[in-house]
Amino acid sequence: MKKATRALSSARRPRCAGRARSASGGAASSTALGVSSPRGDGLSSNRTGIDFRHPPPRRLPCPLIDVHTHVGRPALAALFAEAARTYQVRRVFAISSFDDADALRRRYGAFFEFYYRLPFDGKNRPRLFRRLSLERIDEAVERGFSGIKFWFKPPFVAEQKLKFCDPLLYPVFEHMAQRGIPALVHMADPDVWFERVYRNTRRYGTKAQNYLQFTRVFRDFPNLTFIGAHLAGDPERLDHLQELLDEFPNLVMDCSATKWMARELSRQWQAAREFFIRNADRLLFGSDLVTFEGIRDFDRYASRYWVHQMLWETSVRCESPIDDLDSDGTPRIHGLCLPDEVLEKLYWRNAVRVFRIRRPPVSRVAAEVTSEHHVRNMRARHPGSV
Ligand SMILES: [Zn+2]
Repeated sequence: MKKATRALSSARRPRCAGRARSASGGAASSTALGVSSPRGDGLSSNRTGIDFRHPPPRRLPCPLIDVHTHVGRPALAALFAEAARTYQVRRVFAISSFDDADALRRRYGAFFEFYYRLPFDGKNRPRLFRRLSLERIDEAVERGFSGIKFWFKPPFVAEQKLKFCDPLLYPVFEHMAQRGIPALVHMADPDVWFERVYRNTRRYGTKAQNYLQFTRVFRDFPNLTFIGAHLAGDPERLDHLQELLDEFPNLVMDCSATKWMARELSRQWQAAREFFIRNADRLLFGSDLVTFEGIRDFDRYASRYWVHQMLWETSVRCESPIDDLDSDGTPRIHGLCLPDEVLEKLYWRNAVRVFRIRRPPVSRVAAEVTSEHHVRNMRARHPGSV
């Protein structure tokens, strides 16, 4: 932790630096170093030995709304929900099936909101596909789902021979616009994947070519809100993202996929900070956490929220606790230290607007945080008194 502590003490902005410094207060002993993933992929979520159960205080007493997760059966959701709540996340949007959503609601009440992922099984019979898809969207809306997820990764497009701008999907978009339900769209993967995995450009196209299928639809459906997952898949090129946001007022973006965001935004932290300030109304907080069978490690979930907190709230410069195979060398974080009003929008206000959340989880959280702070202050001032 020495390195991180040194970096923290040389942080640029006193306000952010002060908060960041307390992050190191949660550092655990080196016995926790190198804890590897229970998924058996050999990757650690805590390579620097941090006590994720005791997060640093938040800069603001506002709730967080995580607009991008994948949560299935409730039995798998408990550890995730515990981590989320530890990091002040008060509402979670999960890509889920109808049955899982019912079960999660029974157990967690309003903590979860849901996206429905439209299946493409009947796509070779366009009329049937159209009818089934519109029925499914109606059912999702009636069940209180908040959005429809589209996962158009290059391998999906290649295997299914289906682009996002396929005429088959136009009635779907039209119907979604009428029902007022937004589309969460996975548009692209990291540059390094195109360099290493999708090298066959005849099959996958270039990354730039992949965008044409989306921009056409954004243009044709100005009344449908699109959420570009993972900063619309191009955190490597903030100028490209700016062009997209400027051209399409119906586009917002989530900042999910922790390693990818930390890697690319830290590398160009000054430009990233300016981008977030300039587009403060268009960016949503998200983690892209996935609940998997076999994850029994709190750190697997909590580490992502911890990294997000460092990235947005502080000016910390330190090693990332999460192993990142796509990183060139040691994964590192350089916090953006976003202004308070930008954080508020990123963390919850934009989500309330985009999803028209009627009862945002605000006052309760403010009260909780205030009382937590109160107790902490009391303890500091009068040890042993509270
Ligand atoms: Zn996702």
